[in-house]
Amino acid sequence: MGVEEGAKQQINMALLPLPSSSPLSSPTTSHITKSNMSLSFLPTSLALSPNNHLLLSPASKTITPTKEEVALSSTPPPLVGLDGGVDLSLIDRSILRDHKCLKELSTWGIGGPCKYFIQVSRPSELVSAIRYCEMKRIQYLIVGRGSNCLFDDRGFDGLVILNRLDQFEVIEPGVYMVGSGYPFNRLGVRCSVEGYSGLEFAGGIPGTVGGAVFMNAGANEQDTGSVIDEVEIVTTEGEVQRLRRSDIAFGYRWSSFQEMTDLAAILSARFRLTAAEKSRERQRALLERRRRTQPIRERTAGSVFRNPLNLGISAGELIELAGLKGFEIGGAKVSPLHANFFINFNSSTSSDMLLLINHVKEEVHRVFQVQLKEEMRYVPYRN
Ligand SMILES: Cc1cc2nc3c(=O)[nH]c(=O)nc-3n(C[C@H](O)[C@H](O)[C@H](O)COP(=O)(O)OP(=O)(O)OC[C@H]3O[C@@H](n4cnc5c(N)ncnc54)[C@H](O)[C@@H]3O)c2cc1C
Repeated sequence: MGVEEGAKQQINMALLPLPSSSPLSSPTTSHITKSNMSLSFLPTSLALSPNNHLLLSPASKTITPTKEEVALSSTPPPLVGLDGGVDLSLIDRSILRDHKCLKELSTWGIGGPCKYFIQVSRPSELVSAIRYCEMKRIQYLIVGRGSNCLFDDRGFDGLVILNRLDQFEVIEPGVYMVGSGYPFNRLGVRCSVEGYSGLEFAGGIPGTVGGAVFMNAGANEQDTGSVIDEVEIVTTEGEVQRLRRSDIAFGYRWSSFQEMTDLAAILSARFRLTAAEKSRERQRALLERRRRTQPIRERTAGSVFRNPLNLGISAGELIELAGLKGFEIGGAKVSPLHANFFINFNSSTSSDMLLLINHVKEEVHRVFQVQLKEEMRYVPYRN
């Protein structure tokens, strides 16, 4: 879909849909209902509609930036207008044009320039950036740490919104309200140090809270969805909604957010953990195991493939048994340490990585008749 044809929603970049056999593969947006609970993370100046949904104030006139303004905007100014609400002209002036390379935003270190770029650090800025794109019919993409994304060598033909909403609040012991741009590993360590269990696994995951909720990140028999209490989102219409846990479905590296057609972005999440004295000790052991078994110092995006369901063997083991450890194409290679991690070891392009991914899939299928499915998400230049 071209930009001018009106790419209205956040792009859904999954290479492959969830297998239809999954019991959790079918939730639709009808599962996502709205609730009217307190909205502690939102700018107070946003209006509340009669049905308790937050509404954005009317858009202001847009202006085109001068070259000097574009250059100045490399250090993002606060984007919130004097009234604390939405100011789309400020958004317009803060957008970097043709300057940002996506390889800087991805743990793989791969990806060309994006047409437009903005970094947001407050919910109102993120909501305004989305509203701006909707108004101008520009396709957009929310990026956290880019630790699960393969960006294209040509870049992205739209606005990349780098999410740095890093609010953090302890609501009550063991209950945390966290901005979606907050580092997920920092959250995991913080909760464990405070003696709460449920996010020990997060200590080794270099993403953001929003990315972890969207992907339902998990490891070591734990996952994000299991400790979610509620999630605050903004829709493509610019409406802020608070979803209860019962409104959301989570599966293996899957959340209903991935299929929600009117989701623009996750703004924050509330986690409810249980007290456990040995939480930090357990986390330390998990981190130590990661250090031994995963190439954590290399440029990777974590596991490339999902583990096949009900086979009793992991994707990494299948790749290793197919003799592919260390296999290279261009600057991309299968990690000799963990075969489900693919490394950008020498200026890999997205084409190198995609070729490697396809080759590994074909080989595993040829040898074991098992069809591997990607966990990482490929972001095309244009949707
Ligand atoms: C060394 C390493 C180890 C890893 N280990 C694990 C592991 O053990 N378990 C695991 O599950 N994953 C693991 N990963 C993968 C990755 O860290 C997780 O999937 C993480 O949750 C992605 O978060 P992110 O912020 O980087 O998301 P990104 O890569 O930035 O984005 C991923 C997807 O989420 C969407 N998204 C991001 N933020 C938002 C938001 N606020 N609202 C709506 N959509 C959003 C993006 O648009 C994109 O589609 C690992 C990665 C690395 C590099």
